[in-house]
Amino acid sequence: DAATRAITGLVRPIEDWPEPGVTFRDITPLLSDPAGFDAVLSAMADAARGLGQLDAVLGVESRGFVLGAPMARELAVPFLPVRKEGKLPAETRAATYDLEYGTATLEIHVDALAPGARVVVVDDVLATGGTLTATQSLVEEAGATVVGHLVMIEIGALGGRGRLEPTPLTALHTY
Ligand code: IMP
Repeated sequence: DAATRAITGLVRPIEDWPEPGVTFRDITPLLSDPAGFDAVLSAMADAARGLGQLDAVLGVESRGFVLGAPMARELAVPFLPVRKEGKLPAETRAATYDLEYGTATLEIHVDALAPGARVVVVDDVLATGGTLTATQSLVEEAGATVVGHLVMIEIGALGGRGRLEPTPLTALHTY
């Protein structure tokens, strides 16, 4: 379909970045192609509609904002940013997770989610699943539910999908 063609044709592999042995999937050529970007956003919005009633789209900084905000607009639901530590101005809750070297912390505003809310979490790439797992814990601490995770690209060999179970993950394309 058009979204798959856009991803396979426009997402650019960068070898040995940010470190030797890693192939980074660079989505910027896709973002600069209006037809390809539109196809991807339409496919992601369709996937979100398939999750049933939704109260919000959560986007993970930074590329989750680029995809999540236009999706929320198309679905006419709130967009809620999940940000790196120290960026959100009002009261926050935080989740810290392990990286290969060190840790990272994500935050959300305490008043962003009502208890019982049903949300979808959006990011560009699923790798190990640490980012989406931490985001899900922020949602659950608020008494809300992640009805699904939605990414443009899944790096299958890193096992992220298994870490997210039993919450469903939709990926438009898997490498
Ligand atoms: P994870 O937490 O290991 O699943 O890594 C996912 C996070 O790292 C996401 O927020 C992605 O934006 C970013 N990421 C990891 N690998 C890539 C990549 O190849 N291209 C773009 N972003 C990546």
